[in-house]
Amino acid sequence: MKSAAFAYHSPQTLEAAVSLLGTLEDEGVDVKILAGGQSLTPMLALRVARPEALIDLGRIKALDYIREEGKVIAIGAMTSKHAAGVSELIKARQRLFHDATQLVGHRQIRNRGSVGGSFAHADPASEYPAVALVLDMEFKAVGPEGERLIPAEEFFVTYMTTSLETNEILTEVRMPTLPVGAGWAIREEARRHGDLALAGVCLTLQKSGAVISEAKIAAFGVNPTAVRLEAAEAALQGQAPTAENFARAAAAGAAALEEPMSCIHASSEYRRALVRALTERCLAEAAARAV
Ligand SMILES: Cc1cc2nc3c(=O)[nH]c(=O)nc-3n(C[C@H](O)[C@H](O)[C@H](O)COP(=O)(O)OP(=O)(O)OC[C@H]3O[C@@H](n4cnc5c(N)ncnc54)[C@H](O)[C@@H]3O)c2cc1C
Repeated sequence: MKSAAFAYHSPQTLEAAVSLLGTLEDEGVDVKILAGGQSLTPMLALRVARPEALIDLGRIKALDYIREEGKVIAIGAMTSKHAAGVSELIKARQRLFHDATQLVGHRQIRNRGSVGGSFAHADPASEYPAVALVLDMEFKAVGPEGERLIPAEEFFVTYMTTSLETNEILTEVRMPTLPVGAGWAIREEARRHGDLALAGVCLTLQKSGAVISEAKIAAFGVNPTAVRLEAAEAALQGQAPTAENFARAAAAGAAALEEPMSCIHASSEYRRALVRALTERCLAEAAARAV
């Protein structure tokens, strides 16, 4: 199928894009932001999305950057996932996000797809929203009212829905660097390499002496949004990093999940079992990395 007709706008500055978006919204035009197009163009072609106008951010070079600001890494929304995946800064200072990026789609998709687009698209099976919850990322949005910062736990609302207003553009993703000595891990199960995950888990783990001082764990691909596994986190607090404790925590986290999604590729129970197994393996991996 071909997409339905739409007006195409390609502003060169963020200010022009925000102004145009506000004007079109006020006029009642159904408008969509186009970033890398890796998710939106198939939706247009299948007519799942039928906007009357597209605002392409592709020419706004000011939204393409990766920089360190104190203990935060700031990534411009139009930075490609490839650029994020090969960034030495991210590899050295935020290894969980680096590793997550290697799991996103294929090289071609990472070349075209933007970092901001993945967060704004909010696919429940995407690695990035789960990483955002674990790392307490923040999202910078700009609209006619100005700029605001949205914490990760308020950003992802439900299935492919964020708290961005229709007249707002996501401009920057802000992630704290991994604390020195923290362990990390991300694992997923997909039908083929490069597919979106059937289920996945990511986490960070910090030790204090012989015990775990903090574990932050999230699962993706199981509920309408990525979810923190708070029961698993609580079960690990102050405990020794042993295989027995990891198994107990993983079981608690999986058991506390709200009914996981079910589809022809993976039943609800299979997804729950995946979360349990992947959590256990991630904990062992992260504990071995933590110092
Ligand atoms: C075969 C295949 C495999 C894939 N596998 C994975 C995978 O394993 N993991 C994964 O996470 N993703 C995967 N993807 C999706 C891919 O990562 C997309 O690049 C990503 O979801 C969207 O980024 P984009 O820049 O292409 O955004 P687009 O497709 O251009 O836009 C996606 C949505 O976000 C909105 N949007 C984009 N940017 C902004 C912004 N700055 N402000 C406000 N709204 C915005 C758009 O309006 C649209 O609704 C896969 C895609 C394909 C085709």
